[in-house]
Amino acid sequence: MTDRITIALAKGRILKETLPLLERAGIRPLDDLDTSRKLIFDTNRPDIQLVLIRSADVPTYVQYGAADMGIAGKDVLLEHGGEGLYEWLDLKIAPCRLMTAGFADRPLPSGRLKVATKYTGITRRYFLEQGRQVELIKLYGSMELAPIVGLSDLIVDLVDTGNTLKANGLAPLEFIMDISSRLIVNRASLKVKNRAIKEVIRRIESAIEPDATGDAA
Ligand code: AMP
Repeated sequence: MTDRITIALAKGRILKETLPLLERAGIRPLDDLDTSRKLIFDTNRPDIQLVLIRSADVPTYVQYGAADMGIAGKDVLLEHGGEGLYEWLDLKIAPCRLMTAGFADRPLPSGRLKVATKYTGITRRYFLEQGRQVELIKLYGSMELAPIVGLSDLIVDLVDTGNTLKANGLAPLEFIMDISSRLIVNRASLKVKNRAIKEVIRRIESAIEPDATGDAA
């Protein structure tokens, strides 16, 4: 009997690049993930199903084995902590940078900076390593608003084209790290469903485009 594999995919920006990657790996959902309201999708492979969830939940589903594998951004994995899962492959999709951002033309206040972000774990470590004292303000989205209304001095967010910052009168300031999406695997699934998981990993690995880093001409 073949083992059934569940792969957790993140809704939103990453999905646009995930579906072509899976297609190249020979895995095609039977429904349109963009328009359907379903959460579980069968694929052309009877032994593979997809679940579509919020990106921050992907590592949690994989950690507990509710999904055997998943595709999530490095940002989300670092915030989660990576318990119970292996980060197996850099898929080189959805590349972007984690940056601090603020007003380019305003000096930062002396003393403790207020930093608004969704990424409190990474941000705390970043400023701690530099010996800088900050007050973290946890937000769940639209971080760009925080400096404009005086909630914070800086934000920490993902930057791709920089258009979102620019549209709000902000600029990227300090580079924290490069981010891309990763294939993650539940530790127990890898043992119990080893053959089936390895087969899917091999297919996905051979579908990675080496130059898909976003800086290709
Ligand atoms: P941009 O305007 O192209 O710099 O994109 C910035 C906005 O898109 C911010 O709200 C980011 O949080 C989000 N974003 C950028 N790149 C990614 C990514 N790879 N994955 C998820 N969100 C992203």
